[in-house]
Amino acid sequence: MKEPLFKRFRAWQLNPFSFGSKSEGRHRCANCGTSFDGDYCPGCGQKYSIGRVDWVAVKEDLFSIVGLTKPSSLIMYLAQVLARPGYLIHDYITGRRQVCSSPVGKLGAVAVGAVLVNNFTKHADTSWTLPFIEQGGLFGKILEWMTSNLDWAILIQTFLLIFPTWLLFRYAPKFPRHTLPQGIYIQVFMSALVLIGMMLSRLCGKWMLVFIPVYYFIAYHQLFGYSLWGTFWRTLLCLGSVFYFFGVVMMVCLRISREFWSVHTTWEILSMFGAFLLLGAAALWLGWWIGKRNASACR
Ligand SMILES: [Zn+2]
Repeated sequence: MKEPLFKRFRAWQLNPFSFGSKSEGRHRCANCGTSFDGDYCPGCGQKYSIGRVDWVAVKEDLFSIVGLTKPSSLIMYLAQVLARPGYLIHDYITGRRQVCSSPVGKLGAVAVGAVLVNNFTKHADTSWTLPFIEQGGLFGKILEWMTSNLDWAILIQTFLLIFPTWLLFRYAPKFPRHTLPQGIYIQVFMSALVLIGMMLSRLCGKWMLVFIPVYYFIAYHQLFGYSLWGTFWRTLLCLGSVFYFFGVVMMVCLRISREFWSVHTTWEILSMFGAFLLLGAAALWLGWWIGKRNASACR
C-alpha cells in the first residue's frame, strides 16, 4: 500500500536525497583504470556506471539537464528552498553539504531572475517614493538609491539579520549556538527567498511581500525547532529590530539634515538617538534572556 501523500512529502522534507552507495561488487574505472568498491572512483571521482556512451548515457544526460533528482540542479535548489527551507539550511551548515552545491552561486542565479523580472515589469506600481526624502546630502542620496533599487536594498538588509538571529536563537532546542559564519549562510539561503518574494510582489502586487516574513517564520521554525509561538515572536523581533534600527538611524540622519539642527542642540539629538538605540537593544536582550532562561529551566 502506498503511503498518503502528506506523509511522503514529510519524509521528503526531512530527507530528500539518499546518498548511500547504490552499487554492488567491485568496479574498474573506465576513466583512470583504478579498481574500487562503491559508487565513485577514489582516483578521479568518475561514477562507476559511466563508461561508453550508450542509450543509458543519453537518458542520464537528458535527466541531468532537467535535474529533477540531482541535488546540484537549480530546480532541486528552488524546490528545497520553497518546500524545506529550514531543513535545507540545517543540512547544509551542519555538514551535509551535498544537499546543495554552491548556495552563493545559486543565489546569484536567483538574483539574475529577479533583475530580469524587474526589467520586464516596469509599471507605475513598482516605484516607491518616500515623501520626506530631501534632495541632496549623503543620506538623501542613499535613500534615493534605496527606493529606486528596493530589491538590492532589502537584500542588504537581509544580512543585517545575522546578528539578531544569532542572539535570539542562541538557545534554540534544535540547533543551539550557531556561529556567525553559519549565520551568514542562513541569510544566503534566506536571501533567495527574499528575492523570490520581491519577484512575486512585482508580478502579483505589493501584498505578496507578505511572502518574506512568512517564509522567515517557516524557515526559522524548521531550522531552530522552537514552538510555533516561540518562533513567531522571535522572528517578529528579529525582523522588527532590523527595521527599527534602520528606521532610527534614517530618521535621525534626515532630521539632522533639516531645520532640526536649529531647534535642538547636538547633545539633545544624540541623547535621543542613544535612547532609541538602547530601547531596541533592550528588546533584543530581553529576547535573548528569555531563551537562556528557558534553556536552563529544561536542563
Ligand atoms: Zn578513475
